[in-house]
Amino acid sequence: MAAIATLGSHCALQVLKGAKDEGLKSILICEKKREKLYRRFGFIDELILVDSFLEILEQKCNSILEKNNAILIPHGTLIAQMNSEQIESLKVPVFGNKSILRWESDRKLKEKLMHEANLNVPKSISNPKEINKLVIAKRYGAAGGKGYFLTTSEADYNKKRDKLIAQGIIKGDNDLYLQEYHSGVLAYLQYFYSPLKEELEFFGVDKRHESDIEGLARIPSKQQMEIEDVPSFNVIANSPLVLRESLLDEVYSMGERFVEASKKLVSPGMNGPFCIEGVYDADAKFNAFEFSARIVAGTNMYMEGSPYSTLLYDVPMSMGRRIALEIKNAESSNQIDKIVT
Ligand code: AMP
Repeated sequence: MAAIATLGSHCALQVLKGAKDEGLKSILICEKKREKLYRRFGFIDELILVDSFLEILEQKCNSILEKNNAILIPHGTLIAQMNSEQIESLKVPVFGNKSILRWESDRKLKEKLMHEANLNVPKSISNPKEINKLVIAKRYGAAGGKGYFLTTSEADYNKKRDKLIAQGIIKGDNDLYLQEYHSGVLAYLQYFYSPLKEELEFFGVDKRHESDIEGLARIPSKQQMEIEDVPSFNVIANSPLVLRESLLDEVYSMGERFVEASKKLVSPGMNGPFCIEGVYDADAKFNAFEFSARIVAGTNMYMEGSPYSTLLYDVPMSMGRRIALEIKNAESSNQIDKIVT
């Protein structure tokens, strides 16, 4: 029987608890400095202690994973700490499609996939000279919103960019991606696509709390003007949302279009958990500015299931448990090849 392994951070607790709930062995690749934290949880069967997560690329770590017949569940920390080449070179079977993680990290590929899925993507701006309305400048890669800023003109953009360069956060223009800013209700749509059932499940929706942009709304505009630092969009926490039921049909079709587009552009497609991230405007139109091609940390609040997973399953079904269930189903029907790369 397969074991489930993941890196000790992000949503590891949810993933490994889910493995245990489905009766699978749970393995944590754990930085030594976090050992004390993770030993608190009885559902983690084995810890592989490392100094750095990059050791997962080494033979020693690999042979333990191999011996256990382990499947690695990728999450945000894997993407933040490894480049696409390193991820693609992993020997351990990776749940889902490891090639699509490159499309998550690369803003140009990301845009291509979102357009192929026919999502409403805010316009990107290729040259700071073209900034003539409210624009968000984002860093490349899984920066988690740190170092992002808003701007309305080239001169203001240059000032803020130079500040980030001085702080050593970015090197120059090439580290920033510019996109039209859309205001409204932010929503992060969590999905699971099963290649076994060939079916899309909508799993939940969350909202992110980002510092310090969220804190800005709590102070009067006069004091906002006095703040010297460039406010960032660093994700601190998530909270649950439920959508107007009339929006659900479009939520499913966006997810289905995304799955179809991925099958076309990144074989074998978007298998397993993913998230489409965006903002509902005043006409309840969804502007999708981002996707994550793997489990997102916003699923952590639904360890006991979400209002939407409850409609699909009679047992408390977290995303972590759903992953374990898919692995079990694939094993019992001899279709592991369909769910890992
Ligand atoms: P991202 O890395 O694209 O998920 O962006 C981080 C955060 O920046 C999001 O959670 C939003 O708060 C904000 N954001 C990014 N792009 C946009 C956009 N085009 N319009 C409005 N807010 C955005």
